[in-house]
Amino acid sequence: MNNLPPYWTDPGISKFEVSIKSVKKLDDRYYIHINENVIRPAGGGQAGERGHLLVDDQKITIYDTIGEEGDIILITDGHLAEGTKAQLEIDMDWRSSMMENHTAEHLFAWIIKSWNEDITVGELWIDGKHGSVELVGATIDLDTIFEAEHKVMMIIEQDLSVKSDFVDSSSIDSSVRSREGLTEKHNKLRVVSVGELDRSACSGIHVTRTSDIGFFKVLDVKTNDKNTRVEFTAGMNAANIVSSIYNMALRRKYTYPFEMEQLGAVLDRAKLAVDDKQKLIEKTNHLLSSGATVEHFMEVSFRHEYLPGYDASSLRLLANQLSTTGSTVILLFAPGRKSQVILRVNEMSQDASEYISKSLMQFGGRGGGKGEVFTGGFVDVKDPMKLYIDLVSGIRKVLS
Ligand SMILES: [Zn+2]
Repeated sequence: MNNLPPYWTDPGISKFEVSIKSVKKLDDRYYIHINENVIRPAGGGQAGERGHLLVDDQKITIYDTIGEEGDIILITDGHLAEGTKAQLEIDMDWRSSMMENHTAEHLFAWIIKSWNEDITVGELWIDGKHGSVELVGATIDLDTIFEAEHKVMMIIEQDLSVKSDFVDSSSIDSSVRSREGLTEKHNKLRVVSVGELDRSACSGIHVTRTSDIGFFKVLDVKTNDKNTRVEFTAGMNAANIVSSIYNMALRRKYTYPFEMEQLGAVLDRAKLAVDDKQKLIEKTNHLLSSGATVEHFMEVSFRHEYLPGYDASSLRLLANQLSTTGSTVILLFAPGRKSQVILRVNEMSQDASEYISKSLMQFGGRGGGKGEVFTGGFVDVKDPMKLYIDLVSGIRKVLS
């Protein structure tokens, strides 16, 4: 196989002399056919290359490159006459990022396949910003994805060489990863190998050493019952994303004190707070429309409320504010892993503690109080609603 394109053999070369074969205009874009196969068109799951065409002091932007029956077509914002000779400059930022993303994808897919050989690579997309790969045949959990991400980083650090070979399709065996039908379509195939690890039939552009990838980060994972789709990025782009997200958390570390390692717990609490707020709104709506929960035991009114989102001090405040007439027992309960409870009595023969302390201790709570108010708490509550119901029935027993 002679005349291999330079982007396969030497992806570091960025400038070429090209000649214009023909030009077509479509909408506000020009489709410029060039005679030289020096810039890679979109294909095989990899986006087309970008760059510029320079003639004298004219600079034309290449937005994309496509292939059409062996022709290379540049999609540009400017026109050049047929036969013109121009300097083509590849956008090396876009190309390098694609190279990093593509080699990283080979490593990631190889690692996953080495753990589960039934998985195949489905839809693939690589461009200069990110990549996505569909792993067909399994729902892969996040821990496995993170472990594979870590392994990619380890291979990056090993600085292995990335090489291409051009081999007869007939010589390709199962040690080479290859898409179905590829060996039947072509007589010769390019095989990209990473060290002694992965060999994969591929037409994309790759880094020449794994250390050139620099950094690898999974950005998102979507699963259904059969497939897993992983979005990722590599190189400086990956480092920038990780850095900006870390700094986003760091900025808030001082206004809402937490240790960086507790970020997950902080987010869990935020989620819980949103749920609690919703429940509190429902509760308030219920109280406004139907009134409080009141039960009567002879001349005694027993009022009790389950109040998500309340803390100990707001619970106490509310207990003091509730107006009472006649013999009344009020129980307010704020649910959570740490649940809070307050019991207030009015015109009752006994102290508040007499109505609750027994059940409080029975269900593992602690508390105290003299006279009309008793406060208590529970830690590590798995089912706060059940605890609330148990406390209410305990008080009912005392009252009846
Ligand atoms: Zn590839």
